Amino acid sequence: KLSSQLGVSRNTVVKAFDELQAEGFIESRMGSGRYVEPLPPERSLGRINWQEVSQLSALQTTPCNMAEMLNKPVLSPELINFAHGDGGKHTWNFSQFAEYVKRAAEKPHSYYFHTISGYLPLREWIVKQMGVSQIHSPDQVMITSGSQEALFFIATLLAKPGDTIATEMPTYFGSLQLFQSLGLRIIPLPMDKDGMKVDVLEGVLARYRPKFVYTVPTFHNPTGVTLSLARRKRLVALSEQYRIPIIEDDAYRHLHMGKEPPPPLKSFDDSGNIIYVNTFSKILFPGLRIGWIAASRPFIQMCSRMKELSITTNTLGQIAIADFLMEQNIEKHLAKVRTIYRTQSQAMQKHLVRMKPLGVHFEPTSGGFYYWVSLPEGMNARELMQRCHQRGLSIVSGDMFLLREAIQPYVRLCYSHETEEEIARGMEIMDELLREGKER
Ligand code: PMP
Repeated sequence: KLSSQLGVSRNTVVKAFDELQAEGFIESRMGSGRYVEPLPPERSLGRINWQEVSQLSALQTTPCNMAEMLNKPVLSPELINFAHGDGGKHTWNFSQFAEYVKRAAEKPHSYYFHTISGYLPLREWIVKQMGVSQIHSPDQVMITSGSQEALFFIATLLAKPGDTIATEMPTYFGSLQLFQSLGLRIIPLPMDKDGMKVDVLEGVLARYRPKFVYTVPTFHNPTGVTLSLARRKRLVALSEQYRIPIIEDDAYRHLHMGKEPPPPLKSFDDSGNIIYVNTFSKILFPGLRIGWIAASRPFIQMCSRMKELSITTNTLGQIAIADFLMEQNIEKHLAKVRTIYRTQSQAMQKHLVRMKPLGVHFEPTSGGFYYWVSLPEGMNARELMQRCHQRGLSIVSGDMFLLREAIQPYVRLCYSHETEEEIARGMEIMDELLREGKER
């Protein structure tokens, strides 16, 4: 509202608020807004301006912001949630998992630090059950606090500020925010319905020699697209030809709705150049914060040196999840979860098809959580997001996943949280707003 009253962009207003907050003039209370903080005058004397001294280059400039994303819908349970990219609570069996947490809490060793690279039975389970054929030993696996921490370690190990890296565009906003915060130059790689255009990547590798390529090849976030088998093989071959590491972020692999996706890049990797990252956030619970890296031993050793700097991932959670995985039938759990998400995805798709005459386009998806929806030309995605919020629906504007605003506006719609009925209600809100937008 303020940005339209002042006639300046929303980013300028957000930046001004951030600066006032960094200076201590206002404070932010989660979920309820920003407030003027009464300051005793002497407190401003000799005060450090934390924004100025911060060395993370993009804290001030990233257009996408994890905090903005996470705080809103969680604190407003009355909103229909098409925004958050994590698992739906109706797929979670809390009481069953609580038994494992209780059991872990009764074991004295849950209260100590565990090995830096993670709880061995959990790493052994990953090697046996997660179906990545080039991972033979728990020495090739390290547990992290969510895959986001894994990405943070890997990017920090491989690139320094000013270095160039390449990734699909659009891409997962948490990675985009991370790479920008580390001061990396990002080369955007175009995609089509078969995933990243690997022929374009080849030119990029030859010309810029990026420090790494980051990809979400399976049920990509935000587009839902899956890289074809032929392109996967080509990508691995290019990594060898140019000796460039590839980070394969495979968070959605197990959430297919029809046939299984092609094998991970890692399973074609004879040279050890592919760094594989996955997480329990999408198939179990994101709040546990347990993810993992699978890579060649020397690289895992480097990651362990990095992990040492923050000591370990929490022991209690690792033990609870390991016991759960060893005793419960994960395939049965996944089959249940896939059926739920298939129903929800189909419900959303049905409504999207009906909205096509309004100028909406999307690609059908066969797994993951998302539809990447292009809006009628001239429509402003941020504005639509705000208007959806006002009517009780939270969605995410496409610019969070892009380096710069695309000419065609996009939104990302996530179907993992809501039931068929709520999806129908949410899509009706979108439909109404799109119609109103056309008439204006
Ligand atoms: N990678 C991708 C592609 C994601 O979508 C997400 C979560 N939205 C993550 C990584 C981070 O997941 P976590 O840190 O919870 O494991």
